[in-house]
Amino acid sequence: MRKAVCPGSFDPVTNGHLDIIGRASRLFDEVVVAVLINKSKANLFTVDERIELIREAAREHSNVLVESSHGLLVDFCRARGIQAIVKGLRAVSDFDYELQMAQMNHSLAGVETLFMSTNPQYAFLSSSLVKEVATYGGDVSGLVPDLVLKQLRERLAQ
Ligand code: ADP
Repeated sequence: MRKAVCPGSFDPVTNGHLDIIGRASRLFDEVVVAVLINKSKANLFTVDERIELIREAAREHSNVLVESSHGLLVDFCRARGIQAIVKGLRAVSDFDYELQMAQMNHSLAGVETLFMSTNPQYAFLSSSLVKEVATYGGDVSGLVPDLVLKQLRERLAQ
């Protein structure tokens, strides 16, 4: 069985993430979306909330699972028999860091990283930018799923 992981913070999931997850789900038998737990980062949504939002938004893909992950991603991969990490590349600026991570993960555990070029429609999109724009009342509909839009508005109104 060919398995891949799409890792990230997903705070919250955007249409750019979902595009990569959906495309990966057509290439692999199973795709695990790993919501990385990073205690040093201030997040808007809890890990459980982020997992629920992704599950709901990706429910059309029957071979996509969503789980949390802490520690090394390669250990997560080893424990689940995952052979590949799929990452979306938005711009050249993503590349230096992603290349370094990919080479480290390969040297640690032989896990391959596949880079998928972002859909140009979402090339400018990141969770942090979505939060920033939404904080100041900007319209982010079309950039995130409807459920995320609703929860984002509620959370920011608090
Ligand atoms: P961000 O805040 O940049 O969205 P994440 O850690 O949630 O950060 O993103 C996880 C991964 O999802 C990124 O490493 C990247 O591979 C992919 N990704 C994020 N946004 C996009 C996008 N707009 N298009 C394609 N891939 C993306």
